[in-house]
Amino acid sequence: LSASVPIMVNDVSGKMGNAVATAALARGLQLVPFAITGPKLGGRHVIVGDVDVEVIGAEDRLSVMDKVQEQYPNLIVVDYTLPAAVNSNAEFYVSRGLPFVMGTTGGDRDKLMETVRKAGTYAVIAPNMGKQLVAFQAAMEIMAANFPGAFAGYTMKAVESHQKTKVDTSGTAKAIVGSFQRLGLDFAVDEIELVRDPKEQVERMHVPEEYLDGHAFHTYRLESPDKSVAFEFQHNVCGRSIYAEGTVDAVLFLAKKIQEGAEKKLYNMVEILQEGSMR
Ligand code: NAD
Repeated sequence: LSASVPIMVNDVSGKMGNAVATAALARGLQLVPFAITGPKLGGRHVIVGDVDVEVIGAEDRLSVMDKVQEQYPNLIVVDYTLPAAVNSNAEFYVSRGLPFVMGTTGGDRDKLMETVRKAGTYAVIAPNMGKQLVAFQAAMEIMAANFPGAFAGYTMKAVESHQKTKVDTSGTAKAIVGSFQRLGLDFAVDEIELVRDPKEQVERMHVPEEYLDGHAFHTYRLESPDKSVAFEFQHNVCGRSIYAEGTVDAVLFLAKKIQEGAEKKLYNMVEILQEGSMR
């Protein structure tokens, strides 16, 4: 299936776009040699593997898509752009009947879902495409739903380290803490410790220096009231490959659904995980 799936990555010159294009080629997908970027930002070429991708400003997107859709009728679009572009880009893809995977965060999420549902376009929308991270988060929620209060009386320390440009608390950490609250812990989201100082990230959190500008290290440590029992839940993510690989999985999943003519059209990452391996 993978060799027959052309993928267009908007915008391939961004950090995530580039990682996805690289992962897609490594997995045998066909990379479309055109990408759409923001208005007046076009006119560049980005080389990914052996593909020379022409990056075109949004003002010319109509003529570009006419050409691309004619040449690659089965293409799937991947969007990693900016929160401000989420809704207008989705509306554009929908208007062209283009199946797409939206990894970009932010924008008006309700409006985004509404746009896609109304149009009945095939799409995967997920603010976190890191498959194993999504599985971990879902597993904690399943534990909380099935065993409410299992950790009542325990105390917790939660610490998360991310690149220093990330100012807010990690959304994943907030969701995990929500699960722990349902498991009985008396712990508020604002008690999550944020590590943003590069020196502390290397010395205390053991983040490799080359990943200071892109990592997600989270540790949740729980202790029983008498301190005789401790549990630790930890994930240490370096770089972007976990998100890029999950995005390629989402593209292949969508290609399969289109091929099958599935009635359901809009998917999230949990639904992709539930289908099992797609490789
Ligand atoms: P980036 O700044 O490196 O890349 C964004 C790119 O989008 C730039 O190349 C920019 O020129 C381009 N762009 C701007 N306006 C555009 C428009 N209107 N149309 C098309 N392209 C436009 O950012 P990044 O680190 O690659 O992150 C991109 C997005 O992906 C962010 O919203 C980020 O939060 C999100 N993200 C999601 C996941 C996930 O798992 N879903 C993982 C990592 C990052």
